[in-house]
Amino acid sequence: MGEHHVPLQIDENNNVTKVGHDMGGSYEIKEAVQLELFPNDIFEDCILCGEKTTTLKTTHVDFRTGYIEGAGQLCRECYMKGSSEGREHISIPKHFVKTYSNNAELGERVRRYYYDNY
Ligand SMILES: [Zn+2]
Repeated sequence: MGEHHVPLQIDENNNVTKVGHDMGGSYEIKEAVQLELFPNDIFEDCILCGEKTTTLKTTHVDFRTGYIEGAGQLCRECYMKGSSEGREHISIPKHFVKTYSNNAELGERVRRYYYDNY
């Protein structure tokens, strides 16, 4: 016997409403059967607002939209909030803040770090 494929008719709430072909004896489902097609925990949380994003945790970062390197995933809304310029960030080593207590020196170090690394 080969493989059998049975079509499922699924409504907008992920309820299976029908099993099988119309021609080959289908089975109408009287009671709603909730299928967990997309369980919530397979999606990333937004790092800003905490809402579930539509990005699967298994999606490689190279293929994501709204992924901020070194920070994490943004939902579409948070991602769209800022201008593209507003979404560009650099990271500096934490110790800069304590090592360079003089504001002007800190600024100079950050600027140098930027030109050296970005
Ligand atoms: Zn968000």
